[in-house]
Amino acid sequence: MRRLKKEKLLLILMLILFVVVIPLTFIALFWPKFKVKSFKDVIIIPYQQKFQIEHGTICYGNAFHCEDVEVEHTGNVDITQKGEYKITYIYKYKTKNYQKEQTIKVIDNTPPKLEVKETEFYYCKNSIPDYEVKAWDNYDGDITKNIEKKVENGKIIFSVTDSSNNKTTIEKEAIEKDIENPTIKLIGGEKIFLNLHEEYEEKGVTALDNCDGDISDKVKIEGNVDTKKEGEYTIKYTIQDEKGNETSKTRTIIVAGKKIKEEKNIYLTFDDGPSKYTKELLDILKKYDVKATFFVTNQTIAKPYEDLILRAYKEGHTIGLHSYTHTYDIYQNEETYFNDLYKIQEKVKNITGYTSNIIRFPGGSSNTISRNYDNNSHIMSKLTKSVEEKGFRYFDWNVISGDAGETTDTMEIVSHVILEIGKRKDSMILQHDIKDYSVKAVENIIEYGLRNGYNFLKITEETPNFHHRVNN
Ligand code: ZN
Repeated sequence: MRRLKKEKLLLILMLILFVVVIPLTFIALFWPKFKVKSFKDVIIIPYQQKFQIEHGTICYGNAFHCEDVEVEHTGNVDITQKGEYKITYIYKYKTKNYQKEQTIKVIDNTPPKLEVKETEFYYCKNSIPDYEVKAWDNYDGDITKNIEKKVENGKIIFSVTDSSNNKTTIEKEAIEKDIENPTIKLIGGEKIFLNLHEEYEEKGVTALDNCDGDISDKVKIEGNVDTKKEGEYTIKYTIQDEKGNETSKTRTIIVAGKKIKEEKNIYLTFDDGPSKYTKELLDILKKYDVKATFFVTNQTIAKPYEDLILRAYKEGHTIGLHSYTHTYDIYQNEETYFNDLYKIQEKVKNITGYTSNIIRFPGGSSNTISRNYDNNSHIMSKLTKSVEEKGFRYFDWNVISGDAGETTDTMEIVSHVILEIGKRKDSMILQHDIKDYSVKAVENIIEYGLRNGYNFLKITEETPNFHHRVNN
């Protein structure tokens, strides 16, 4: 009985072996399929290193024989851009296909280059001088602005990190010493005009030192202004830091005999900028502490000029809106006009954070050129109303400088303006800070104005109307 059972079991096992295991083993050995011998799922290559397709070795066949197969691929790798790229390979044998995907990571693993020109280094408790340090990265380009510096154990450590977190550090032995002169900034203008017997008010200066910080209270002021006597007086401001580094600056006060202060006002206004001449203009205005109004456009805007809009705003000038494009086809209808206006308003807001509602129409409100574009719709009659309904205030002018085509001669502009401002109590002068010969006239106009008792005003929302007669 037991023996019979054992034989039966053996028989079943034999049966399984012959019917299942052996055939399956044969099938496994001889059944043809794609076989992967070498293939990389992920390949990492440094930025800009040439990438060669690596499709690995794949064949078609069985355990005893394997044939090479054809391969095609799709997808691209841009070695000039960091990132992950996918390539799909299709291996083909007769009608059979086999697909594999590969990831190529283009990375930047080159640290930036850091170059320090100087050979001697100093530092003090509050600061490290501005050494000439440059940083260049193979991927990010010039990253000088990302350089950081600190003092540690008597060394200055310069470091810079690129956008892939590769870091370069340079250490320089340094000496604790104050080698920089303090700086002085006048509060108020460099030139001040006073009437005889008018009181001189000393506005002082701001003095800053790299090591000692704000040392304005230590400034020595020399010189006297005798407003009982006509003449030019000089006030000298001198500051020494704790280590004896010295800086000085002067201010001129002009006391004039005839009464120069009356209620006569000049509004300097500049259209069409900013431009490469705007910086010079801002320097002149700063020298005399005179504020002006800039009706800006986008027509010549490039990055360095945008910074001039911000500078003008920070220095207390009014930023008005002229036009984004400064083309006259903005006068086709109200929509085209306001589209353009809101664009320049937005731009000024992005640069300064300030929403300007002070505008000047291209060509002025009296222009007739808009007739060429508005299809007989009397666009200027409509716009002069609708801008005010929308909360804007527009300003024309009553003194032309002549810089819009009449002359290119600086002295001619000066004498024309001087003649014209003498005819009225309030003058709004039209100039263009895209014309160098006009910008060069400004210093003379200001000198004349200050010597002869004019107030220089910028346009604000409270300025009275300067409106032309509308002609269209
Ligand atoms: Zn203009």
